[in-house]
Amino acid sequence: MKWLEVVEPYDFEAMISSLARAHEHTRSASGGVAVIIARAPCLIHERPALDRWKERVVEVDPEICKGCGLCVKTFECPAILQPEKKAKVTIDRTICVNCASCLHACKEGALQLRDSRGSGASSSPRR
Ligand code: SF4
Ligand code: SF4
Repeated sequence: MKWLEVVEPYDFEAMISSLARAHEHTRSASGGVAVIIARAPCLIHERPALDRWKERVVEVDPEICKGCGLCVKTFECPAILQPEKKAKVTIDRTICVNCASCLHACKEGALQLRDSRGSGASSSPRR
C-alpha cells in the first residue's frame, strides 16, 4: 500500500484535506489505490454513546430552506429527507442523532442547532 492516512472524520477540515490528497494520489500517473482510515464510527450506529448531545437538536428552518437538495446530494446523511425534487428537506427524528455534522452542508444556514431545553438558542455555521 503506497498511500494511507488515518483521520479524525469529525475534524471536517482535516477530513476534506485528506480526501483531496487521496483523490490527487488516485489520479496521478504514479498513483493508485488510496486508503483513509476514519477513527470514529458513524454516529447513527452509536446512539448509546450520545447522551452528551441530548440537550440539543438539529432542525431545518423551513423559512430558510429553498429545497435545492444540495445537502442531500453532497452530504448524504440518511436522516436528511427530501421526498421529492425541490421540496424542503426534513430531518428523520428516528435516526438523527443531533451530531450537527450536517450544519456546514447548507450554505443558506437552514440546518440549525438548537437547545432542546427550549432556550431558543440556535447556531449555524453559515449565518
Ligand atoms: S437545507 Fe439548505 S442545502 Fe438542504 S435543501 Fe434546504 S436550502 Fe438546500
Ligand atoms: S445532525 Fe445532521 S448529520 Fe447528524 S444525524 Fe442528524 S441529520 Fe444527520
